[in-house]
Amino acid sequence: MENKQKEGKCPHCENTTDKIHQNDWYTVRDIPLSDYQVLLKVNRRQLRCTKCQKVFSEELSFIKTRRTYTKRLAMKVIKEVLETNVESAARRNRMTASEVETLLREQEVDLLKEKPGSPRLDMTI
Ligand SMILES: [Zn+2]
Repeated sequence: MENKQKEGKCPHCENTTDKIHQNDWYTVRDIPLSDYQVLLKVNRRQLRCTKCQKVFSEELSFIKTRRTYTKRLAMKVIKEVLETNVESAARRNRMTASEVETLLREQEVDLLKEKPGSPRLDMTI
């Protein structure tokens, strides 16, 4: 799979560029199809900014940076863990219990490093 959109916005200077520095193919786990595990081969391109010359990875709407599963698989697993338990959610998604635990820990990491300005979890009791 590749992004149909050829251009990406430089995170350093906001300039839009379509200059490919290199292709970066990797494998991502998606929601299983009945008994089959589904793996997607995805290209997250590295683009070079034509203004500031810095290299950056393009954003993909369906996979968080550095994650090896799709956002929709993460949401499905979380929902099933809440409804049942880790073992059952793992079985339904053709994953091991430890893979599900890693996925849950990574969601926590993502929540804790949300950008300033986004909703916070601070509470007063
Ligand atoms: Zn730039």
